[in-house]
Amino acid sequence: MTQDLIDPRALDRLAEVAVSVGLNLQKGQDLILTAPITALPLVRRITAAAYRAGAGVVTPMFSDEEITLARYRNAHDDSFDRAPNWLLDGMAAGFANGAARMAIVGDDPMLLAEEDPEKVARAGKANSIAYRPALEHIANFKMNWSILSYPTASWARRVFPELSEEEAVAKLADAIFAASRVQGDDPVAEWKAHNAALSERTKWLNTQRFEALHFTGPGTDLTVGLAEGHEWMGGASQAQNGVVCNPNMPTEEVFTTPHAAKVDGYVRSTKPLSHQGSLIDEIEVRFEGGKITEARAAKGEQVLLKLLDTDEGARRLGEVALVPHSSPISQSGLLFYNTLYDENAACHIALGQCYSKCFLDGASLSGDEVKARGGNASLIHVDWMIGGAQTDIDGIKPDGSRVPVFRQGEWAS
Ligand code: ZN
Ligand code: ZN
Repeated sequence: MTQDLIDPRALDRLAEVAVSVGLNLQKGQDLILTAPITALPLVRRITAAAYRAGAGVVTPMFSDEEITLARYRNAHDDSFDRAPNWLLDGMAAGFANGAARMAIVGDDPMLLAEEDPEKVARAGKANSIAYRPALEHIANFKMNWSILSYPTASWARRVFPELSEEEAVAKLADAIFAASRVQGDDPVAEWKAHNAALSERTKWLNTQRFEALHFTGPGTDLTVGLAEGHEWMGGASQAQNGVVCNPNMPTEEVFTTPHAAKVDGYVRSTKPLSHQGSLIDEIEVRFEGGKITEARAAKGEQVLLKLLDTDEGARRLGEVALVPHSSPISQSGLLFYNTLYDENAACHIALGQCYSKCFLDGASLSGDEVKARGGNASLIHVDWMIGGAQTDIDGIKPDGSRVPVFRQGEWAS
């Protein structure tokens, strides 16, 4: 019923852009796709667009909110330390054989909010371990992949609790289509221009060769050392299989790898973080020598502390990203409860695993070499927002000199 509220032509354009720009799917390439079952109208369109582009075999896999909840409410305790290894191994094998990956997100971001956090954490960890072989292909950017969203009713109700379900879906659909740049007649050209603008920023940052970034703002005085030989990336980039794709739709960020042992100071989050169904808000942490030594949150503190205890790398950074406060997603003023959107509204840092592609000659580095240059390793990668209208950032050069990067939430030049 709510599907009638979503403009079918905009959905058509989103499917086309997802396949041609997001994935840049190649002739003969297989596609492994995951989505909520309620995103079926988009999955069908993407499948058709993929086959028109010459796809080999498209394999969609669906999740369902009621089925997810059925586990937490009915399963034996042992269930929460298990994962469908056979399936995730199969995905890894598919990627090793050259398949592209697309993820459509749109489940209720607070789906697990009422469930036992212990079980949620255990199931999340078991899944992370089982997913590791597949994730390695994605984190190392071995093949083209892309994530985008679909305006499901349950997600829309979270973003617009004051509206009727119909109005909420229509508004979320508009926000997604606007942020994904598919409202005009030529979304492919719009993406080309947007990718070029992001590329200018990464080129400038890469020529600066900053040793560290110094963030200041309300509750924040944080020096983020950058990994040796780090490379800034953003927008379209080339996977190791040679295909240029846009891994995130939308995307507003430029990002790189921090040094896992060179982060010092304190930082306060500027937006709530929606993590595996829980909301973590007003995070305040202190870093010493790259490691979080103190952490608290006004809301969801137990979830945050559990997350930090996932493994050794969970208390260290794997990503730092810059997004101006004037970004369209930030200007929408909405909290999407969805990292794909919320991280593109503000400068952010991520706890956990780094992207090994964010190094000069990143594709040729071994895991040990990434580590030696300061790249972090962890089962988790969780982005949280630290930028806002009052964020100032200086780039610090090896000789200690400073270059303004951000002033009052915007690019300094
Ligand atoms: Zn990011
Ligand atoms: Zn991230």
